Amino acid sequence: MTRGGLLGAVCAFALLPAAASAAAPAPYVLSDAEWRKRLSPEAYDVLRQQGTEAPFSSPLDHEKRAGRYLCAGCRLPLFSSKTKFDSGTGWPSFWKPLPNAVSTTSDRSLMMERTEVHCARCAGHLGHVFDDGPPPTGLRYCMNGVALAFVPGSA
Ligand SMILES: [Zn+2]
Repeated sequence: MTRGGLLGAVCAFALLPAAASAAAPAPYVLSDAEWRKRLSPEAYDVLRQQGTEAPFSSPLDHEKRAGRYLCAGCRLPLFSSKTKFDSGTGWPSFWKPLPNAVSTTSDRSLMMERTEVHCARCAGHLGHVFDDGPPPTGLRYCMNGVALAFVPGSA
């Protein structure tokens, strides 16, 4: 990436709203070439190609500090550390996303019926949600750590 391109990307981030509001966020659309430039090969594979990282490969699986987990693609805040739990699966797991942060679709690949979780703003693939999570929701948002960016601080 050229210096000008990098600065352009940084400026584009600065113009985006920092926090999820009550309304669904406006779509954030980049071309495939732009996503390839912006993301690491591993993040591109998950966010844009519905890939799955190897379990126990993400340092975020063991992240226990207070803070927020942002979309690695567009920086939308997706999860609070307050809803993170150790599922033992090897993927960062949460029982609830932030309001309006994610959307879901039905995924029938791999001979299974699963519910796929996307970033509500850039539509990047984050992982899946299952109904075997802890109270109070009973949900388990099974996320790929490479699709998330952790920002320590207020949760
Ligand atoms: Zn996003």
